[in-house]
Amino acid sequence: MRIVLLGPPGSGKGTQANIICEKYNLPHISTGDIFRYNIANQTELGKKVKSYIDSGSLVPDEVTIEIVKDRLMQDDCKVGFVLDGFPRNLEQSKALDLFANIDKAIMIDLDDDEIVRRLSGRRMCRKCGNPTHLDWLVNNKCEKCGGDVYVRDDDKEDVVRARLEKQKLPQNVIDFYRDKGIFERVEADETKDKTFVKVDRILSKLA
Ligand code: AMP
Repeated sequence: MRIVLLGPPGSGKGTQANIICEKYNLPHISTGDIFRYNIANQTELGKKVKSYIDSGSLVPDEVTIEIVKDRLMQDDCKVGFVLDGFPRNLEQSKALDLFANIDKAIMIDLDDDEIVRRLSGRRMCRKCGNPTHLDWLVNNKCEKCGGDVYVRDDDKEDVVRARLEKQKLPQNVIDFYRDKGIFERVEADETKDKTFVKVDRILSKLA
């Protein structure tokens, strides 16, 4: 099962990717997580991408595409994968098409005001990387593993607004997957579990 999750930042793509990967035992490939890991570990890649991420801009395609290509060539991706946060533009979609056969591109969609509300309450777990939310936290700890949580720099309201502005999913990406007959859209305005029921209805036809 080779799945692409599309959608605006903050729509819950990462959360849905986690649930899908757990249920279907697939690797979760998040370009944002790869970048954050490299920034935290001060690698060459981390130094290269930090300023883009801090300002809410997209990292240049040549950097991002290469990373995804390398990652998909690893053994664990032979069974399939869930790509979260890639592709974000037509160039990335076309590049991906050259090295992977995608089964479904699912857009996890949500309107901007709800995204700002959700992202300002989002917390990330330092230990397991799980995205969580103030509404679900118990004693300010990750509900999955009990780890400490932190606020992503790019989840601050002004950066969120900039990301929404600069990173609106282009219509040509939607058209690219629609033309292939593999595009689906899921409204993520309910709880993560209810959203997953809708996502899983699509996936169960593939499994
Ligand atoms: P995310 O965790 O998906 O919201 O990604 C965090 C940040 O990483 C984004 O705001 C971008 O700066 C960068 N990023 C993640 N995925 C991509 C991508 N496919 N293309 C370019 N930049 C990306």
